[in-house]
Amino acid sequence: MVATLPVVEHFHSLQGEGAHVGRSAFFIRLALCKVGCTWCDTKNSWSEKNYPQKDVFDLAKATLEARNKGANFVVITGGEPLHHDLNPLCDAIRDVTAWETHQAIPIHIETSGVDTISGNPSWITLSPKRHARPKIEVLKRCHELKVIIHEVEDLLFAEELAKTTQNFQEPLLFLQPGWNNKKGNKLAFEYVKSNPNWRLSVQTHKWLGVL
Ligand code: SF4
Repeated sequence: MVATLPVVEHFHSLQGEGAHVGRSAFFIRLALCKVGCTWCDTKNSWSEKNYPQKDVFDLAKATLEARNKGANFVVITGGEPLHHDLNPLCDAIRDVTAWETHQAIPIHIETSGVDTISGNPSWITLSPKRHARPKIEVLKRCHELKVIIHEVEDLLFAEELAKTTQNFQEPLLFLQPGWNNKKGNKLAFEYVKSNPNWRLSVQTHKWLGVL
């Protein structure tokens, strides 16, 4: 049986935020998200009805093409990508991209952490939400914890989750102001100044006005 997933878009760009900012990457944006963040900037991805189901091998071939043009890694994002079983897509990506060089492209996943991890990614970016707390399994396995800051309560949430991750492997810690949110800018900036374990993440692609 052909495995398919609903795809909003895929494109070759630069990673705009977080630990891998500025690096060439191929993005696959899957449709479907039930997390419901009021400030979401990809609300168009919430429903899968409007998007085509794409064969995972076609997505893997598009990933290979992007790698041949310079992409360092593929980012599977959404929507909430882990609402889907990512094993067929990630297996296809590893198989197809390892075909010529025996070196599979690294697979990154960006998630809110509300679902079980699938796809065995090599990098997990956890962007948790206060109203839909992440699973402990994702906190244990994430490589970067990126908390969006709008108000003081978000800083408290970030501190609490960072303490939890100290019991496991310690991820890189990022505070990212909500887009166009002056209060969030100031809170995140001042907090990072006096808390050296944290770094500031900004959405460089939005500031540059590129995809
Ligand atoms: S989890 Fe991400 S895609 Fe889903 S509503 Fe929140 S910000 Fe939007």
